Amino acid sequence: MKTLFLYDIDGTLLSTGGAGRGALNEAFELLHGVPRAFSKVHFGGRTDHGIVSQAYELAGLQQADGHREALIEAYLPRLQRRLDERRPEVLPGVRALLDATDRVGHNALLTGNMEAGAHRKLRAVELWERFQLGAYGDDSPRRNDLVPVAEERARRAGLEFTQTLVLGDTVHDVACARAGGAIAVAVCTGWSTAEDLRACGPDLLIEDLESGLEGLLALVRERAATG
Ligand SMILES: [Mg+2]
Repeated sequence: MKTLFLYDIDGTLLSTGGAGRGALNEAFELLHGVPRAFSKVHFGGRTDHGIVSQAYELAGLQQADGHREALIEAYLPRLQRRLDERRPEVLPGVRALLDATDRVGHNALLTGNMEAGAHRKLRAVELWERFQLGAYGDDSPRRNDLVPVAEERARRAGLEFTQTLVLGDTVHDVACARAGGAIAVAVCTGWSTAEDLRACGPDLLIEDLESGLEGLLALVRERAATG
């Protein structure tokens, strides 16, 4: 009775202190001459695809063929430079939780980051190797599509599981768990307030991954038993 654990990245596993936003601002200015294009874009729980589309809209620019690819090409080395200058902060309890969930299931990613960005962020804190697979912002502009994408990849990789759990820091993570029929666990270390997270009715709300570890494992055992 194994569980497929789908981890969000920003605000859940780590905090990059705005490295993604800074790199996108710089890339956008390089391509279009518009400074701080992402300053008013809301990032939390969104996919990179959706974030980029909104920046074009706010800048009053038409997103043409090839713009997205050019932006990504400019973004990735700028993200890497920021990650090299300031190592992301791994949030409390992450490594112990990954050890624990690895024993009762499979660790995977479900993130709005494009895969290349996710790779760079997690590699910066030696966490990339802890995940067997992922569903990313490249897979769909809508986060709510991503649970089935991750489950299909897990099956194709030969992983067996009887339930799926999504762990994230925003109301969008909870919505995406619901859309995919997964268990929803929300953590208060990121973008949404505890009040907002509670209001969207996750199966479990935890302060951080350290204090929430036992409760999360108990929920997994309980759901596995009641199937
Ligand atoms: Mg997040």
